[in-house]
Amino acid sequence: MDCIFCKIVAGQIPAKKVYEDDSVFAFHDIDPKAPKHILVIPKKHLASLADAAPGDEALLGHLLATAAAIARELGLGKGYRVVISTGPEGGQTVDHLHLHLLGGRQMHWPPG
Ligand code: AMP
Ligand code: ZN
Repeated sequence: MDCIFCKIVAGQIPAKKVYEDDSVFAFHDIDPKAPKHILVIPKKHLASLADAAPGDEALLGHLLATAAAIARELGLGKGYRVVISTGPEGGQTVDHLHLHLLGGRQMHWPPG
């Protein structure tokens, strides 16, 4: 499958890894939008949040918990934001589910 994030998980494309276990992988975004900008992804290919099935609930929870653990590890005690762009109107540009963990600056609302 021609998926850039699957290739990162497989080690075929380099990435700055911050965390890995049996089911999830986390790495620095190549084009950071905050002082800390990490992507947390499932190792298995799941095109988007909209493609998640009931059997994926534990994985979705683990992705969120991993984002929180990485935020703690990075010292983001003052806060951070987790974003899941979903589908074309959601601004999703890579069709492999990913959580953006953004921190290290004040976030604003509404997002763009
Ligand atoms: P989205 O636009 O929400 O789908 O997010 C995709 C994110 O993937 C963007 O923030 C990109 O900067 C990031 N990205 C794309 N290619 C790479 C890569 N090879 N390594 C790390 N991050 C990437
Ligand atoms: Zn993929």
